[in-house]
Amino acid sequence: MTNRLTKSHGRKSIRASLRPRSLMDGPEELANVWTARIVTLFPDTFPGVLGASLTGKALKDGKWQMHTTDLRLYGEGKHRNVDDTPSGGGAGMVLRADVVGRAIEATHRLGPILYMSPRGRPFTQDMAHTLAQGPGCTILCGRFEGVDERAIAHYGMQEVSIGDYVLTGGELAAQVMLDATVRLLPGVLGNEASTQEESHSNGFLEHPQYTRPTEWMGREIPSVLTSGDHGKIAEWRRMQSEELTKTRRPDLWNKRTS
Ligand code: SAH
Repeated sequence: MTNRLTKSHGRKSIRASLRPRSLMDGPEELANVWTARIVTLFPDTFPGVLGASLTGKALKDGKWQMHTTDLRLYGEGKHRNVDDTPSGGGAGMVLRADVVGRAIEATHRLGPILYMSPRGRPFTQDMAHTLAQGPGCTILCGRFEGVDERAIAHYGMQEVSIGDYVLTGGELAAQVMLDATVRLLPGVLGNEASTQEESHSNGFLEHPQYTRPTEWMGREIPSVLTSGDHGKIAEWRRMQSEELTKTRRPDLWNKRTS
């Protein structure tokens, strides 16, 4: 496991740079901390929702870190153009390979380079676990019609999709992927057991959850849950989880039993 908390975990590291600290993107570097490097035209959209609640607290506490590279800084000419019309014609604009290349070169890359893309491999809980076990990742957020294919090929980027629909940009997709990953890092949730029994962690959907009050709008909590019989509770939850998976997600159910 790369995420063992070592002695240097969370310490500030010093990296030689020709740019003064004040001009560098983002906050200072922490050593041996899971790191997301994000190349984006909209660095202000980060950490976005990841700055709230448990992921936000973990970010502040140095349990993970993120650094953005502003694609615009690597644009062409006075106007810092980053895009151009598609070769062969058609609607929209394409992010230029040379601009993306310069931004990627300027980024202290680590882990796989992931390009958020609706053509990519569908993101799964297994992929979140794999990412969480590594040192971090480098993420390219696309915009417009996407990125010149040559940049994707040159850097061996892995295309990752968060679902079969099209967003206007990769920033939200990156935050979805990072949220699912960062919550698996040691110490982020506070209650590690909760990631072992949830939906998708074992190929099943989770059983229904209840909490006080015991009666609400004439509806009661299933009595087995208040019986104190842990064997029966576990059995009830397993049955519910199987039933939900079978009816809502036959694709997952068939994968488990085939
Ligand atoms: N023309 C492209 C879509 C571009 S959408 C196509 O048809 O495949 C603009 C950008 O939004 C993409 O470059 C990508 O970075 C991001 N994006 C859109 N939908 C996404 C999805 N489902 N998953 C991940 N990233 C997505």
